[in-house]
Order: sequence, then C-alpha cells, then structure tokens
Amino acid sequence: MDGKVYEVPSEWASRAFVDAAGYKRLYQASVADPAAFWAEHGRRIHWFTPYAKVKNTSFAPGAVSIRWYEDGTTNVAYNCIDRHLDTRAGQVAIIWEGDDPSEAKHITYQELHDEVCRLANVLRNRGVEKGDRVTIYMPMIPEAAYAMLACARLGAVHSVVFGGFSPDSLAGRIEDCGSKMIITADEGLRGGRKVPLKANVDAAIERLGGGGVEHVVVVRRTGAEVAMDPVRDVYYHDAREMVTAECPCEEMNAEDPLFILYTSGSTGKPKGVLHTTGGYLVYTAMTHQYVFDYHDGDIYWCTADVGWVTGHSYILYGPLANGATTLMFEGVPNYPTNSRFWEVIDKHKVNTFYTAPTAIRALMQAGEGPVKATSRASLRLLGSVGEPINPEAWEWYHRVVGDARCPIVDTWWQTETGGILITPLPGAIPQKPGSATLPFFGIKPEVVDAEGKVLDGAAEGNLVLADSWPGQMRTVYGDHQRFMDTYFSAYPNKYFTGDGCRRDADGYYWITGRVDDVINVSGHRMGTAEVESALVAHAKVSEAAVVGYPHDIKGQGIYAYVTLMADEQPSEELRKELAAWVRREIGPIAQPDLIQFAPSLPKTRSGKIMRRILRKIAEDEFGNLGDTSTLADPGVVSDLIDNRQNKQ
Ligand code: ATP
Ligand code: MG
Repeated sequence: MDGKVYEVPSEWASRAFVDAAGYKRLYQASVADPAAFWAEHGRRIHWFTPYAKVKNTSFAPGAVSIRWYEDGTTNVAYNCIDRHLDTRAGQVAIIWEGDDPSEAKHITYQELHDEVCRLANVLRNRGVEKGDRVTIYMPMIPEAAYAMLACARLGAVHSVVFGGFSPDSLAGRIEDCGSKMIITADEGLRGGRKVPLKANVDAAIERLGGGGVEHVVVVRRTGAEVAMDPVRDVYYHDAREMVTAECPCEEMNAEDPLFILYTSGSTGKPKGVLHTTGGYLVYTAMTHQYVFDYHDGDIYWCTADVGWVTGHSYILYGPLANGATTLMFEGVPNYPTNSRFWEVIDKHKVNTFYTAPTAIRALMQAGEGPVKATSRASLRLLGSVGEPINPEAWEWYHRVVGDARCPIVDTWWQTETGGILITPLPGAIPQKPGSATLPFFGIKPEVVDAEGKVLDGAAEGNLVLADSWPGQMRTVYGDHQRFMDTYFSAYPNKYFTGDGCRRDADGYYWITGRVDDVINVSGHRMGTAEVESALVAHAKVSEAAVVGYPHDIKGQGIYAYVTLMADEQPSEELRKELAAWVRREIGPIAQPDLIQFAPSLPKTRSGKIMRRILRKIAEDEFGNLGDTSTLADPGVVSDLIDNRQNKQ
C-alpha cells in the first residue's frame, strides 16, 4: 500500500504557489519560529488596528488558553466582502446551483455586499447586537451565506444547524447557546424532496416552551404555506423591503467569537465548538489558497453543506477572504441522476472539486457510466475530506473522475481545528492513495503511544498536535473544563485529536480511524480503516464498516458490515470469499470472524459511518445505542439488528 506514489505533475510544480523546495523551506520556518511566521502571514487579511502580539497560547494542564493576534481588531465580513469591492465588485463571488438543474444564480461581490447589509439591518432592527447568538437553520441557498456574513458584520455569533436535523436536535442546540433569533426558510429542497424547516423550528421552540426565542426570520424558498406567529415571525422578503443596503461593520477584537458549531456526533454528544475571529480567518484563507492552489479566475466547488465546518471554512470564509468564486450547491449527488456532480462541473466550468469519501463511494457503486457521460475537461484538482479515503476509492476518483490528470488533496482536519492540518499541497507533495501525507505550515503532528511517549520515525499510535495554530478552537461554548478534559487531559501539553495514525518511513501520515475504533485481536492493534479498505478493494463490495466485539479466545473478534455493489447478491460463498480475501490482502490476523451484509450503514448526517452504533449491535447491546439523534436514517439500525450475525 505504501509503495504506490503519484508524483507531482510538472505543470503543477510550475503553476503552484509552492513547489517541493518551497514547502520544505516554509514548513521549516513555520515551526522554527511560529510567532514570526504567523506575524507575516496574519497580514494577508485587513486589520482595522494591526496586531502587535501574535501568539499567546498554552496547552498547560488545567490552564489551557489560546490567543492569536489578541490586540488586533478586524471584521470577517469586511474581509470577505468590502475590501474586495475596489477591484472585484463585478466579479462573481457565489455561483448558486439549485436542486433543480434548471435553477442557478450568479452573485457578484457587489450584490453580496448589498444582500448581506440588508439582512444585517433586518437583524439589527430586531435587537441583534455584538455577542448575541443567532441560530441559522437553512437550506443551501444564498441567504444561508448572507445570514452567516450578516452575523459576522454585526459581531453576532452564529450557530448553523444542518437543515437535516430534527426538531429535537435543533432545540438542544438553540438551548445550549441561548439564541433569541432564528433564521430559517419555509421549506428546504433536496433531491426533489421538501424539508419542513419552518415547521421544525416551531416544533423545536415548542419543545423549549418558547426557550427565549424572540424572533424568527423566514426566507421563502418553496413558497409553501407555513404557520407564522404574528409577533415572533417575519418573512424575510417583507422585512428586506424596509431596510437599506448599507450597514457598517462592527470592529471586532481578534479573539471575539465568530461562531459556535456542534460536531457531527460520531463519538457521542455533540460539542459546541467555539471559533474566534482573526486567527480563524487567517488560517482558513491561507489553507484555501495553498491547499487548493487557488488563483484568480479559478472556479472552486466544495460540496459540503454550510451546516458542517467544511461549509463554514471552505465554501464561505476561506474562499471569500481570498476574493474567490465559490460554488454553492443545494442538491444531492444522485438527483436527478448519478451524473449530477459531473454535469454541474461542466455547466459552471469548475476547476477545483472538493467532496467526501462517502459521496465518492456512493457514486462508485453506480459505476463509471454516469461519470464518463460528462466531459469534466475544466477539472484540475480534486479534494477529499471527512473520513479516511480507502485507496480503492482514491484510485477510482483519480482515474475515473479526474481522468488520471488531477492531483487529489486528501485533507485531514476536524471541526475543532478550524481548517486543514494534514494534506498534500498539489504542486509540492507527491500523493499516496489513502494517506493525508504531510502537515500544513505551522502544524506539529506527533505520534504517541498509550503512555504518551513520543514515537520517532515510522510508527503507529495516537495522533496529537504539539503546538497551537491560528485556526484552533478556543473552547467548548460555556464549558471550558469540558474543552480541557476532552482534548488536553490524555496527554499533558498536547492537543489530542482522538484519531489513530501511522507515520511511514517517508514521514507520511495515514489516519487509521478514531482511537475508539481500534481493534485488539490477540494482542495485535488494528485500525478499522485498514480492514475496511481491504474489503472495499474487492470488486463486489461498495462499502464496509468494521468493529470489534468480545471474543472468548482472541479478546476481540472482527465484525464486518458489508454493503455490496448495486447488482451483487449476498451469499454464503461470497461471505467466505470476502473473509479469504481480507486474509490474503492483510494477513490471517485481520480475517473477519463475522460478516453481515447490510443494504446500508448507519451514518451521521454528514455521511460518516457511526461505528459506535455498529459496535453496540455487534456486542448485542441493542438497548444501549446511545445518542442516535444525529443519525441520517434511524431505520437503518433496526434492519441491522434484525440481520445480526450470531456469535460462534
Ligand atoms: P464527533 O467529534 O462529534 O464525534 P466528528 O469527529 O465526526 O464528530 P468532525 O469534526 O466533522 O466530527 O470530523 C473530524 C473527524 O473526521 C476527524 O477526527 C477524523 O476522524 C475524520 N476525518 C476528517 N477528514 C479526514 C481525512 N482526510 N482522513 C481521515 N479521517 C478524516
Ligand atoms: Mg471528532
């Protein structure tokens, strides 16, 4: 697996901002003197009051404190909009592609300015001030971007809740951050289906007995008839008529909060991750420029939802801070057909395409036809984020989607990290399928063993970060103790990522999955990602999830849930074939003890496999599945329970 290397294409080495030598030089400088490095790069954004202090961070036990640029003042909306108006007023900032392929909009920086100001004025007229929390529960329409930027303009703290979440999940998040203002839409539209957003907001508020919510601003998306409280609720298009397109930017301290975002909940109760203003914007803008090698005129598309951190950092804030053209997509990959992504690429001449392994594996299942029916000639660069990408899926993405012409940046990061931490730079770092490769500037990853001993050279263990970077989260909203306990208690003076990883002889990092998911078979520690990748490499397998279960002899046995390709049937022979296949690919130790064929796997709404639940099913602990509120389709679970494999 380590053997396969995709070298940097020569046109990339010359086109890119950073080549191999440049990467080495900049990385060395960034870790040798972080304060000097970030002092220089902090100037990439506009400051109302320039900073004199750059880095003031401590991971010390019981006293974790993270501050960047703490005496500087700025405004995120100013940086994402106003400062571009001299040179880019007529340039398209956001290309919006609707759920229905006949709908699209092009929003210039001037239009973005005017719309954000209007929405900010609507909020301000309803009492929203600096520091107030605003919940945004929206479909992927331009108003979602306007709402986030309007909050930033006023210095209000947004909490975006993914439009697929239930009233219960929404209520919990409104309550946790105490927001008095909610921005929503009548209904959302995804894959031709309507999502009752306003009704969900009403149900959430009812659950909270009002919960202190004073205003609900409702954007019309489908025009559906929805209940409107005459005092509390207002249609945005009515309120918009009453305000001007001018609204000043609040002067914010670099460490003032920008947003709260709840993690996807793969491992338990979601955490309210708090990000602040200055360092976050510097870091997302810089990573967006270098990782995607963004040049003026490029058309850039990140398929995430704004409800996830990827949408915050790499649909909105990073790209707009760079004056980029960013595409925002309302729909889903398989509507109206499995060609949709590729058709959108052709329609808008997309150069850079950034998506998640879950989408790639789903489209792989449909075969090459829907891809090959499109041109994709505009594509130059592909990206992946969210889970380890199996080498098999990487190769398919590279060969079929990118016509073997586009580098792939496999970007490892977390809601907590604000931006990308481990990734190839396309003009500098040769890629290995399945590896996130090397750290970005200023990032100091370390591999440690269970006792916290730092391992050198080629090694496998837990991934920690030895020092801070400007995009790092500052606290768990309202619970600094939980922040310290969760991330800084396992290894003193280090940020613990919760992920396992392997570093190979070339210094490349391979994320092996969450540490909670490591399986220990007869004393051998194994990452779930490795066994899953072997299964997915089999031609008949589309997706796989592997967990451990108690085994009398081995300590833990390997339980594999396998989803087959569209035209394959489960059988006893296939079960044996797959077990033998893994044995051959990795070794006897990795051979699954039990294989269950599953039409689909339980996933978070961001598309990540929830192994926590699969583990409970494998352990026969049906009554104790934990928090399932962030599951995309709870129905999947009962099917898995019904078809559970019996232990031998
Ligand atoms: P929770 O923290 O609530 O359990 P979550 O970890 O799924 O949810 P995110 O912050 O969205 O929430 O995801 C970050 C995690 O996703 C990482 O810790 C890692 O496990 C995984 N991940 C993201 N990108 C990659 C990647 N390129 N390669 C491997 N794993 C990745
Ligand atoms: Mg996490």
